Amino acid sequence: MTIGGARVATKDTFGVVNPATGEVHAQAPECTHDQLDQAMSAAAEAYRSWRTDEAARRKALHAAGDLLMARSAELAPILTAEQGKPLQDATFEVIGAAIWLKHFADLEMPREVIQDDASALVEVVRRPMGVVAAITPWNYPLILASWKIAPALLAGNTMVLKPSPFTPLSTLAMGEVLSEVLPPGVLNVVSGGDALGAWMTGHPVPRKISFTGSVATGKKVAAAAAPDLKRLTLELGGNDPAILLDDVDPEAVAAKLFAGAFQNNGQVCSAIKRVYVPERLYDDVVEALAVQARAAKVGDGMTEGVQYGPINNKPQYERVSELVADALANGARAAAGGKPMDGPGFFFEPTILAGLSDGARIVDEEQFGPALPVVSYRDLDDALERANGTHFGLSGSVWGTDADRAAEVAGRLECGTAWVNTHLALSPAQPFGGFKWSGVGVENGTWGLLGFTEIQVVHRAR
Ligand code: NAD
Repeated sequence: MTIGGARVATKDTFGVVNPATGEVHAQAPECTHDQLDQAMSAAAEAYRSWRTDEAARRKALHAAGDLLMARSAELAPILTAEQGKPLQDATFEVIGAAIWLKHFADLEMPREVIQDDASALVEVVRRPMGVVAAITPWNYPLILASWKIAPALLAGNTMVLKPSPFTPLSTLAMGEVLSEVLPPGVLNVVSGGDALGAWMTGHPVPRKISFTGSVATGKKVAAAAAPDLKRLTLELGGNDPAILLDDVDPEAVAAKLFAGAFQNNGQVCSAIKRVYVPERLYDDVVEALAVQARAAKVGDGMTEGVQYGPINNKPQYERVSELVADALANGARAAAGGKPMDGPGFFFEPTILAGLSDGARIVDEEQFGPALPVVSYRDLDDALERANGTHFGLSGSVWGTDADRAAEVAGRLECGTAWVNTHLALSPAQPFGGFKWSGVGVENGTWGLLGFTEIQVVHRAR
């Protein structure tokens, strides 16, 4: 682990499974209560000086981004071995994290004069909060950590970061690399099980919790933050609908739709998780998506040419298997795939499900894996109602040849990002967050940066 700039060993460790083999391939440190206290103290101590020098912070974030870029070949295989994604995608993830750090290094901090007259000069400025407790999931450990590290550190906060127990190693390695350019204590990285996350959210030192993960855990985090009134950003699950309009060309959109649903093997919070198609086009869309699924190359992420790796972990593999089996048992048809693949590891066939509707578990719940239900509709208002009729509200997309009409329909989606003729288009400048149970607050852009600050009014009498 990295605590106060030093490499710290632990007495106990836990096994990390390579999802391509299903076998434990490495041990990760199990942080104790005392070591978490040390990490929090180191962050609190570092905060005293880190908060004072904005120019030094910008310089350090640039150096951090450059260093990650330079060390991507070292970090990417660690990510592939524990997460499962193809090496090329792992490399893009490291580079993406570097891009995020460098983007925020140059982002301006808003400062507004709201009154400047004979009686007063009143400015609204932003102040850091203190120590941030950051907790991340297993699908994109490095990029999602960078969404927190970059704005939190720029704003003058310091951090204790905990990755998922399924994917701790790449984040621990990143912490070690970044300790070469960040002052001791500014970024501490610890690892352990879910209990460590709960210790962090209940710890008296952090003033802010930045959490990415499931809705169920997000609610526990919110409850844990409440007694201490810790500030909170929650990036939670989604069940993103893609609505196809009646002027869409199935052949033209199939590859993009498939990519929006199956990126990272469907393990993306804002992936397409259900597709709504006008009845007239239904068979054509199902077949066009099935063609994509049958052509997808699935395998060990270290093998050249593989596009999709295994599902990250056994519980998730079992959940996807169960949701697909449930749909098939209730009358759905697998137009492609439909079952786990033979052999070791958590591999599942890229699956397109037809002949099912809202009410099927895989339509109503977040599957978070390589299986996509395609649902038909007769009336657009009804389709929108079904798309919105959920506790989720992360993102969604509308697809049609008439882009203006598609944009008008997209505006009726109840979600944080409404895409038109695309899905999963993200950037460090674009705020990202969810309506309803999909989250509280946003990450990225100036809006995400402000989430790591408190407003302070400086009112000077004249
Ligand atoms: P999870 O909620 O099980 O775990 C997320 C993190 O929380 C892990 O580090 C875990 O150890 C920790 N944790 C578990 N219990 C805790 C507790 N009581 N207190 C504090 N921390 C605790 O989620 P997961 O299975 O790792 O990730 C998948 C979920 O994350 C999906 O629902 C997905 O949609 C969501 N997700 C959301 C976004 C987003 O930006 N909105 C991005 C990626 C993933």
